[in-house]
Amino acid sequence: MKHRIVVLGAGYAGTYSAGNLARHLHPDDIEITVVNAEPDFVERLRLHQLAAGQDLKKRPLADIFAGTGVRLRLARVEAVDPERKTVALDDGELAYDTLLFTLGSTVAGHGVPGVAEHAFHVTDRAAALRLRDLGRRRGRRQAAAVPHPGAVRRLDTGRAQAERGQTAARRRLRRAARRRGQRLSRNDRRGR
Ligand SMILES: Cc1cc2nc3c(=O)[nH]c(=O)nc-3n(C[C@H](O)[C@H](O)[C@H](O)COP(=O)(O)OP(=O)(O)OC[C@H]3O[C@@H](n4cnc5c(N)ncnc54)[C@H](O)[C@@H]3O)c2cc1C
Repeated sequence: MKHRIVVLGAGYAGTYSAGNLARHLHPDDIEITVVNAEPDFVERLRLHQLAAGQDLKKRPLADIFAGTGVRLRLARVEAVDPERKTVALDDGELAYDTLLFTLGSTVAGHGVPGVAEHAFHVTDRAAALRLRDLGRRRGRRQAAAVPHPGAVRRLDTGRAQAERGQTAARRRLRRAARRRGQRLSRNDRRGR
């Protein structure tokens, strides 16, 4: 019978370990199964970008493990029974000989009242998407509260202020030159 290696979680640790084991061990001797709740590899390092509204490229785990011999099981891990060497999944049970527990980490509310209901974080995809939705809802409300859309364009950036300062300086220069009857260079005529 083959030695059954079960890897819980296909994040950085689980994906790398499963791939590495598959490369170094013979498929006649071992069977590697990776269990993950989501079908795509979640790049946790980029979840703040997702929360900020960027679309992240999807990386299906099925593509990542294609041709490696690693089996992918999409399921949620609910419990581990080390005595029986089994893992309880939301769709059944899985037996193992060797277990890699690489389910990552999550937020600890430390029992602080209100954290669970009101705090936002970006440690998993669903949480990052909740934060993105909040940002979009607030953005829509703020846009609706602006008296006329032109006002939005007048929001100052440092660069906009600097450009306005330069334009005003050129205008003063032009007026002074006209008073003296001088001709202006092309550069000085710009920014009207
Ligand atoms: C916004 C952000 C930025 C970061 N930036 C950096 C950085 O710049 N440098 C750095 O070194 N680290 C950074 N980190 C930390 C880094 O992301 C983690 O250390 C790393 O993801 C841990 O890898 P992991 O494989 O242990 O867990 P994870 O990457 O979290 O993978 C765990 C996997 O298990 C799955 N899973 C979890 N629970 C279950 C379950 N019950 N059933 C089935 N599947 C489950 C998850 O879906 C996931 O695929 C950052 C983290 C965040 C949130």
